[in-house]
Amino acid sequence: MTEQKLDRQPKSTTGKTDTEKSATGKPSTGKPRPEGNPNFLWRSGEMVEWDKATVHLSDLAWSAISAVFEGVRAYWNPESEQLYIFHLEAHLKRLFQSMKIMRMTSSFSKDELTAAFLQLLKANECKGDTYLQPLAYFGGGVPGYMAILEQPGEIVITTRAAASGLDEAKVVHCNVSSWSRITDNVMPPRAKAITNYQNSRYVSTESFINGYDFGIILNPNGKVSEAAYACIFLIRDGVAITPPLNAGILESITREALKDLLAKEMDIQVIERDVDRTELYLADEVFICGTAVEVQSVGSVDRYKVGDGEQGPVVSCLRKLFRDLVRGKDLTRAGWCTPVY
Ligand code: PMP
Repeated sequence: MTEQKLDRQPKSTTGKTDTEKSATGKPSTGKPRPEGNPNFLWRSGEMVEWDKATVHLSDLAWSAISAVFEGVRAYWNPESEQLYIFHLEAHLKRLFQSMKIMRMTSSFSKDELTAAFLQLLKANECKGDTYLQPLAYFGGGVPGYMAILEQPGEIVITTRAAASGLDEAKVVHCNVSSWSRITDNVMPPRAKAITNYQNSRYVSTESFINGYDFGIILNPNGKVSEAAYACIFLIRDGVAITPPLNAGILESITREALKDLLAKEMDIQVIERDVDRTELYLADEVFICGTAVEVQSVGSVDRYKVGDGEQGPVVSCLRKLFRDLVRGKDLTRAGWCTPVY
């Protein structure tokens, strides 16, 4: 799931987690220390104190069957002391699309949810890079496998600190997974549904066990789909290639942003077409993109070195352009960023 690479365990003010230090001297519970959590979350129209936001245990798992979500980043600009939410409108559009596929309606308009994002970020005094997660699900103890038609979902929005990795060049190593990507007629990948992440989890676990950072998934036609929770591009002979929307990918917001930057700022042709596995081995550059991973160079695929194995010139330039835009340093695409303060 997208969150996997983010710092899931909030640090306390001392920088220690409960796993590292137990104040009571008793064996550690491994739970995040409460002071690492934000003060509030937003739940269906109300600001709720973090510790009071509970659901009944019997809702566990069942409410997840129809749950859909978004992962959104907000970037802090220290010079202007401003926090910018990246592509909020596009994330809300995709959330509504995912809800529609689940036959879930929303009691809140996109404008009301935008206001909720702003209210929550301010209430939690978020002044640093932040990850936001709206989640929509059928509450009320209805088992998720039952048909529920056109009823409103509960919507919860949470925030947590998540530093951007765009300032340090990083190269990740990938394998092509032995698992296949889910398909539109089985578990539609364009719905950002919690349950779809079981597919990502099998892939990530296999990669982890075998010493890779990310798994790349082929669809049942044997063509490249995406990475476990990120989309993928390759550069071959000066052209950028990315699998099409019907290759089993999530309709990625970062992928769209990068397509725009490649074509308009870097004058690089972008082609959406089926990609073979061996093209990854022969590419000059490969990179993955997504809200959580941002833009990361792939140094090798199945231990075939990609290019010279380091961050290539295209991804290097792309990362810089992307970084300046998301932090509101480059205002040429100001519409991509929603200021909070
Ligand atoms: N595919 C999957 C399965 C993902 O979870 C993500 C991350 N949301 C992506 C692709 C990239 O999408 P986005 O750029 O909208 O974050």
